[in-house]
Amino acid sequence: MVDQVPLLDLKRQNKACEAELRAAFERVLASGHFIMGPEVESFEKECAQLLGAKHAIGVSSGTDALLLALMALGIGPGDDVIVPSYSFFATAGCVVRAGARPVFADVLPCCFNLDPRSVARVATKKTKAVMPVHLFGQCAQMEPLLEMARERDWRVVEDAAQSFSARYKGRSAGTLGELGCFSFFPSKNLGAFGDAGLVTTEDDALADRARMLRVHGMKPKYYHHMVGGNFRLDALQAALLRVKLPRLAGYTEARRRNVRFYREALASLPVTLPTICEPEPIWNQFVIRVPGKRDQLMEHLKKEQVGTEVYYPLALHRQKCFEEIAPEEGSLPESERASKETLALPVFPELTTPELEHVAKAIARFFR
Ligand SMILES: *Cc1c(COP(=O)(O)O)cnc(C)c1O
Repeated sequence: MVDQVPLLDLKRQNKACEAELRAAFERVLASGHFIMGPEVESFEKECAQLLGAKHAIGVSSGTDALLLALMALGIGPGDDVIVPSYSFFATAGCVVRAGARPVFADVLPCCFNLDPRSVARVATKKTKAVMPVHLFGQCAQMEPLLEMARERDWRVVEDAAQSFSARYKGRSAGTLGELGCFSFFPSKNLGAFGDAGLVTTEDDALADRARMLRVHGMKPKYYHHMVGGNFRLDALQAALLRVKLPRLAGYTEARRRNVRFYREALASLPVTLPTICEPEPIWNQFVIRVPGKRDQLMEHLKKEQVGTEVYYPLALHRQKCFEEIAPEEGSLPESERASKETLALPVFPELTTPELEHVAKAIARFFR
């Protein structure tokens, strides 16, 4: 009998590879090498291979990956960067931290990703880059966005924080634009034991700049070409992530199995199931729409001990901190509607069938 289902339970995944995690920890402990070094280099190589990327650069978080990418491109004061208004805060926050201005565009109602027509509408003379987010594990409509960027000489920075190993027309998310940014925050599909991230690029010069900026713009030691930061990935995180990396495909398969279950079990209920616009999503989140009743359903599921979350309850252009640069309420209607209608259900790989059944039954009871 199942009486509660968490939104995410990391303990199960870690239990299943505990001996290897301990061995990785012991290896780093014995080496005494905690900053950069062979674990980070091996992890970078393994990521590059898995993603089919020329360069993979381990960094301190997904947020720092985005900031580093903008810094590597030289984006700063006087530049505009187009971002979707429906995303995690870091997508827009990093633009401000780079000294540039985020320009908010709307998302598509189907997959919640950047709407190319809205991008065309909000573009300005100062636009230097566009930052598509591959939200919830599904790729954005990259073809029209890449074409628009080519025509207008914009850089493309992909926020692939939620889409490590998702594919778009045969290529990995994050390898389509100038730079791809990933997060290994514990709730992402490949989760670290703390903060961690990655930047990818096909461009040798950008990779050089990114590697230098990661260590205060330094090369060689104590000679600084530019002002960077401390954006390094810990050797310990790299060693632990290397245990999980070969298991990622299995985790993704399990997430897909859970989604197949929900699709059948929820088919006859008055909720909108996620639309698959790109065929190989990795389901970082399974997000349904519940028009008019989202908060009530969430409250009901809380009583039924089912963990849910709203990603995200307030569109970025409505955030207090962007008050002075963002367009008024009503201007990006799909982002605003999504923030009122969406609800994420548990979809983590280790969910059991009785747990999935419990979630589906609890939702069915709400609509009875
Ligand atoms: C998680 C996330 C980030 C930030 O990653 P951190 O590793 O938490 O800094 C950025 N963008 C999106 C879309 C995310 O989901």
